[in-house]
Amino acid sequence: MARVRQGWSQDYRAPEWLCEACYALPGRDGVWALIDPALSRQITEDHVDEYGLRLVLLPPLTGAGIGAVQLRMGHTIFGEIRFSLCGIDRRAILVNVEVEEKHRRRGAGSVLVAAAVARAARFEWTMLPIGQDPVAVAFWARIGAVGPTSPYPCSHQVEQKVVPAQFQWTQWW
Ligand SMILES: [Zn+2]
Repeated sequence: MARVRQGWSQDYRAPEWLCEACYALPGRDGVWALIDPALSRQITEDHVDEYGLRLVLLPPLTGAGIGAVQLRMGHTIFGEIRFSLCGIDRRAILVNVEVEEKHRRRGAGSVLVAAAVARAARFEWTMLPIGQDPVAVAFWARIGAVGPTSPYPCSHQVEQKVVPAQFQWTQWW
């Protein structure tokens, strides 16, 4: 087993884990910042500072519309998760997760998923189909889907067009 050391990341202003085995791999610095995805640690745009790795909430313009959480360092976006929540019907739909290529495989995607799930812990989660992209397939295989990959929108989410037309046929099967 590889040894893991915990420390404080100066760059990210967050605790970090240093995996010595990963550190030895070429092209990887082996450092992940450890980000707490809890609701209380997610901030809004007006609280973004220049330094530090932060989860920034971009609320939807309308109730059940699509909102986002971004993993950012200042104004640099490392990754983003987009999702829709309906508090009336307690349904959540995960629309997509995107992590910048150079920041992949350090847990950014799973932090983003955890941050979204933390916003709607007792909701019924479904996801848009994952598709054939091998990066996306490998990502979800690694962290586990948050719900069935057949979206189950409520009337508000249908009204907000959360599920694109090409995925809507799935409900008829
Ligand atoms: Zn609803």
